[in-house]
Parts: sequence; structure tokens; C-alpha cells
Amino acid sequence: MLYSIIADTYEKIEETTKRLEITDHLVELFKKTDPNLIDKVVYLTQGKLYPDYLGVEIGVAEKLAIKAIGFATGRDLESIEKIYKKVGDIGLAAQEVIKERKQTTLFKEPLTVERVYETLDRIAKTSGPGSIDAKLKLISSLLNDATPKEARYIVRTIVGELRLGVADYTVLDALAIAYTYDKNNRPLLERAYNLSSDLGAIAKTLAKEGLNGIRKFRISLGKPVRPMLAERLETAQEIVEKLKGRCVAEYKLDGERIQIHKDKKIVTLFSRRLENITHHYPDVIELVKRNIKADRVIAEAECVAVNLDTGELLPFQELMHRRRKYEIEEAMKAYPVSLFFFDILYLNGEDLTQKPYYERREILEKIIIKDDRVRVVQSLKSNDPKEIEKFMEQAISDGCEGLVIKDMDSTYRAGAREFSWIKLKREYRSELKDTLDLVIVGAFHGRGRRAGKYGAFLLAAYDKDADVFRTVCKVGTGFTDEDLEKFPDILAPYKISHRHGRVDSKLEADVWFIPQIVIETIAAEITISPVHTCCIDAIRKDSGLALRFPKYTGKIRYDKSPEDATSAEEILKMYKSQLKKIEKEAESEVI
Ligand code: ATP
Repeated sequence: MLYSIIADTYEKIEETTKRLEITDHLVELFKKTDPNLIDKVVYLTQGKLYPDYLGVEIGVAEKLAIKAIGFATGRDLESIEKIYKKVGDIGLAAQEVIKERKQTTLFKEPLTVERVYETLDRIAKTSGPGSIDAKLKLISSLLNDATPKEARYIVRTIVGELRLGVADYTVLDALAIAYTYDKNNRPLLERAYNLSSDLGAIAKTLAKEGLNGIRKFRISLGKPVRPMLAERLETAQEIVEKLKGRCVAEYKLDGERIQIHKDKKIVTLFSRRLENITHHYPDVIELVKRNIKADRVIAEAECVAVNLDTGELLPFQELMHRRRKYEIEEAMKAYPVSLFFFDILYLNGEDLTQKPYYERREILEKIIIKDDRVRVVQSLKSNDPKEIEKFMEQAISDGCEGLVIKDMDSTYRAGAREFSWIKLKREYRSELKDTLDLVIVGAFHGRGRRAGKYGAFLLAAYDKDADVFRTVCKVGTGFTDEDLEKFPDILAPYKISHRHGRVDSKLEADVWFIPQIVIETIAAEITISPVHTCCIDAIRKDSGLALRFPKYTGKIRYDKSPEDATSAEEILKMYKSQLKKIEKEAESEVI
């Protein structure tokens, strides 16, 4: 098949912004394409060689492309760069230079799609020493035989700037029309796409086997399934009504969604956008091998940064360090993660997506070995909005974003955003700017590196009116090894066998103290909490206020008596004065 057919189609597509016209041009192109080649034509049309999840990029730098244009045409680089500056697009620059090429009488062979694809594939797979030269030769060999128009699209493709604006769903429409003469067959194709994330494979199957082949598409290990997404409603009441009371509320953790494919010893991880992110998380791979009790599984989990010594969840920004700052090995140590499983799609050859949610959850519970690094996400089966609101408060103060409330009977709807999963996020945030001086009233035994020491402390604010200390957070973050060594000695004189009479706490600490030692803490926010007693009933009945993501600053305030600690009244004032409505857009950032 001649590459000029593709180039002509691209030109027509570029000339319109109307989706229907783009679809028509694609239909025409697909009809002219041999079934053996259709997958490649589909990938090329989206500026790719393979489905995204394989992560193969052509990735040629502009500089090298310019060099190759010079190599193929004999033009000096400076003049090519000048043209590029003038036209502002590398493809158009290539077209112009090739047009002006003095026609040496060398034999020119018309370019075929097969040759273009194969050469681009070799360029993508060439690496290591000498690869630049090899790529240069490969690109210029194509440009040598290219017409100006073909050069425009070849060069745009190799530098990753084809950008025809052909959406996945437009391709599916065009395939349905080209091969079945009926756009209404698109949902069938869409289903196959949601299960396989591979438009090329769908095109080829359709071209060769028709709709019967498409109906046989199943989810399979190694191919990411397009994720099921959540709708949003404002209140627990509305959600319970929408789901007719058949609901399970789950913690909505604030981490990275990972689709885990375990095929015995081979583990592959895909992101929310279906990129292969296996190499970001060697530790997750180990956890999956260790904690999933089945050979072949596709499951979904939220990966969250944690403080391993205390089990506290850390803010989303901590996880992002895994992407940026350090080498993977270092990042793994500095920013450890936990996995919270929330769904299972496939088990040992069986597609589970058609099973109702509650059955999938039961299966998940059976095959996950739970420990301090791996868990099944915390959930509450309830049709009582009040109870769900309490669970929501607890989720927020535990460091979550809110809840995802799920229809118990829903199948796994790959690629769909529907009301089978409904997110409930908080509407208000009360940011905390000042530090707080709080009293240590209890402690919890440490684990891991903190075994044998205190792992976290229960802190309280002073309630002047009642002359009691009411708990406001549990803090385990911000302590150095040295701090952890010295705190048992500092607190020893105040250790008692039971909760002190002036301490009001719903939590049961492992060790209790006479309120005496005051430490300085910072936190991201003040939030409503069903667990803590500070300002209980002041904002909501039976709930208090708590610190979200608290952290010890390193200062013990020996200069303050416990009654000088930050008062409950001050905390209430801070909560009210900083309370702001959360902008919806800011909350829905995709990672
Ligand atoms: P999108 O819905 O497009 O993913 P988003 O990234 O803003 O947008 P939200 O819509 O806010 O995400 O919520 C859905 C995301 O919540 C999931 O993709 C997943 O990463 C995360 N999540 C956390 N906990 C759960 C849970 N228990 N069940 C399902 N998803 C969860």
C-alpha cells in the first residue's frame, strides 16, 4: 500500500475540524487498506506504532530530524533551521526543503506503508552506542524517497507531533462504518476496546473475522483494562437514594491508581492512563508476589505513601517524589508505599468483570494476604446517610480524600463513568497556618524500626471551660531517631496505668500519661472527626475536631505548662476562620 494514500488522508483531516468529516476520511482510508495492514495504519494515524501500554516511542529529537533532512537533501543545517523558524512547524519545514531539493537524477522508489512502518519501528528500537548515526541513516533513507507531502507527515511522526486530533472514539466509529456499514455497531467495538486498550488489534480482528471476532474479545493478562470511573454527588443522602440503599462505602485513598497484572512471577503495573509503570515500583512488585495468593490475577489498588513505622497515610505529594527526585532505589527507601486493593477483574483464567461487586470483593478478601503494607480498602456496608457521613469524617481525618460509594450489585464497567461508583468528597477545607502546642496524653507502641519504642503519641488540646484535655490527633511523623530514643525517658515520670482523670479520649492508648509534656506540631488542616473529642458537638453532633496530617516540629515546649497549650477554643476559632469551599476543579486533578 502506498504511503501517499495515508498522506493524502492526513492532509484532508488537517483541513477540517468537523468530527463527521474526519470520520468519513478515515472510513475511506480504512476501506483502501489491506486487512493485514489495518492495525499498522490505525496506529500510524494516531502517531504511534503500537498501543500505548507497550510504551514504545519513536522519540526522535528535533535536532536529529533536521540533520536527517539535511542529509537527505544536501541542504546546510542553518538554512533548514531558518525555514523551520519561518514556518514554525518541523513537518512543514521538511516539506519545503524537500520541495526545493535539486532533483538529482537518482532513482526514487515510491514509499509504501510497510516500509515506512518498518523503518519507524527500527528507529524506535535502536538504542545504545552508534544509535544516533543509525537513526540518521534510517530517517534520511525515508526522506530520500519521500514526496514533499509525505516528508511532512513522516517528520511529524518521528518527532511525536503528528497531532491529527483523531480521537480513539472517532477511529471506532470509522471502523464500524468501514467494516460493518453500520455505526450502531460501535458499542460492540467499544466494549472490545475497553477490555483490551488496543485499537489496532480491534481493527485487525474486525477486518479479518468480522463482528464475531470482536464478540470474542476477553480481558487478558498483560493488556490493561480501561478503568471504571466514578460519578459524583454532593451528599450521602443523595447517594444512598441513587443506589437504592444497596451500597458499600469505601475509603477514597489519595494515591496513585494501579492496575496490577500478575502472571505467576511476571508482574506488570499500569497507571490510570494505562501507561506501563512497572519500573516505578519495584517494591510494589515484591508486595504483589508476596501478598496475592493466586497465580494469575488482574486487580486494582491505590498505592499510597505511608509512614511505615506508624502506619499513617501521607499526603499525595509525598508519593509524587517517587516520580521526580531520586533514583528509584533511593526513592523506595525514602518514600515507602502501601497497597490498598479495591477491585479484582480476573482470577486464574476467569473473567470476573461480570460478577456483582460484592462477590468480587469477597474474592479479593480471600486472595489478599493482609499485613502492614498490603490491605483491602476499608469499607462500610450501610444505607444510613448519617452513618456514612461519620465514616466520611473518619476517612478524611485518616488522610483520605473522601469516600467512593459503590453499588453492591454492579458489574465492573470497564471504561465507564457511571453512577455505579459515586464519589463523595468534602466540600470544605480548613487550612492550618499556625503551629499548635499540644499535650502528650498517651502513646502507642511502635513497630518495624520503632519496635520497642513509642511509635506515635496521642495529643490533646486544653479545654478551659471544663478544665480537661481533649484529644485532637495521633502523631507519628516528624520524629527523628534521636527523638524516639529520648521520649521514653522524658515521659517516664508521667507514665500511669490508666487514662488520666482530666483526659477525655475515645481512643484507647497503649500507654497513658499525666498531662505534662507539651510539644509543637504542624498540620495541613483541621477537620471534623468522629474519633477525637476536642470541640465535641461544637460543629457536628458526636464529632470533634482533629488535625489532618499532623507532624512534630522537633520542639518540646518546656516553657509551657499543659494549661498553656493551645486551647480547644482557639482550635475552633482557627477552624471557622480558615474554612473555605473547595474548588471542584482543584480536587479533580488527574495524575
Ligand atoms: P477520574 O475519576 O477521572 O479518575 P480523578 O483522578 O479526579 O478522576 P476521582 O474521580 O476523584 O479521580 O476518583 C476516582 C479515583 O479514585 C480512582 O481512579 C482511584 O484512583 C481513586 N480511588 C481511591 N480509592 C478508591 C476506591 N476505594 N475505589 C475506587 N477508586 C478509588
